[in-house]
Amino acid sequence: MKAPDFDYLRPTSLDAALAMLAKHDGGAMPLAGGQSLMPMMNFRVASPEVLIDLADVAELRGITRDGGTVRIGAMTRYAQLMADAIVLADIPLFAMALPHIAHDAIRNRGTIGGSLALADPAAEMPALMLALDAKIEVAGPIGTRAIKAEDFFLGYFETALEEDELIIAILIPAASTAQQFGFHELTQRHGDYALAGVALACSDNTYRIAFFGVADRAVRVPALEDALGSKTEMKIALTHLSDIEFTDDPKASAATRQRLAGVALTRALEGMTS
Ligand SMILES: Cc1cc2nc3c(=O)[nH]c(=O)nc-3n(C[C@H](O)[C@H](O)[C@H](O)COP(=O)(O)OP(=O)(O)OC[C@H]3O[C@@H](n4cnc5c(N)ncnc54)[C@H](O)[C@@H]3O)c2cc1C
Repeated sequence: MKAPDFDYLRPTSLDAALAMLAKHDGGAMPLAGGQSLMPMMNFRVASPEVLIDLADVAELRGITRDGGTVRIGAMTRYAQLMADAIVLADIPLFAMALPHIAHDAIRNRGTIGGSLALADPAAEMPALMLALDAKIEVAGPIGTRAIKAEDFFLGYFETALEEDELIIAILIPAASTAQQFGFHELTQRHGDYALAGVALACSDNTYRIAFFGVADRAVRVPALEDALGSKTEMKIALTHLSDIEFTDDPKASAATRQRLAGVALTRALEGMTS
């Protein structure tokens, strides 16, 4: 199928992009890498009257470190994240996770902002944001705000972003030498969306563990994090996985997903590195 007709706009500044979004009042959608939005339009799952291509908005690009925080522009592509010196040095979890996101062709176009705005429950990036205690910086008609990852992902493909707002950047605390990170996902084929996956950060026996592919959004399980922090036996700690409302669909039952989440976590903990 082909996408329905739409108008195409290509602003060259953030202000212009926001003004276009506001003017079309819910009828326009931002276009980033197009790796999800274009297929959604072709399948008629999305039918925006207007596409606002963010490719020329300079304010949405660039990776910088300011003090202890790394700031990543929303239009940064996965391939750029994989090659960037600041990301490689300060966000080790990205190097673990990025090779698992789709394939080269998609990583060459897909952006971090697009992934977070979409909030696919099986995507890696939302879980990384939770594990890393990131903030998502958004801009709208009344200014900018930084939303904690915890408060950003609200449900199945649902975020705290308003229709007239854009994600402009992601703020991630730079890793300290005391931190360790782990990642593991289970898929039917490499590059597929995960049936169950986990990203984690650990410092001083304090864990931040975020699962993806298992529920309506990326989720943490505080009781499980506490149990691991107090060195509870793994088998007992894993019983806290039942706090998750597991997805039950034709790809995997809730019981299978719970078992896979436990396997993914065990392997991620075994593979932890700083
Ligand atoms: C075959 C295939 C396999 C894939 N496998 C994986 C996978 O394993 N893991 C994974 O995580 N992803 C996977 N993806 C999805 C891919 O990572 C997408 O690129 C990503 O989810 C969306 O990023 P994008 O830049 O292409 O966004 P787009 O498709 O351009 O946009 C996605 C959504 O975000 C909105 N949006 C984009 N940018 C902004 C912004 N700055 N502010 C507000 N809203 C914005 C758009 O309006 C749209 O609703 C796969 C895609 C394909 C086609």
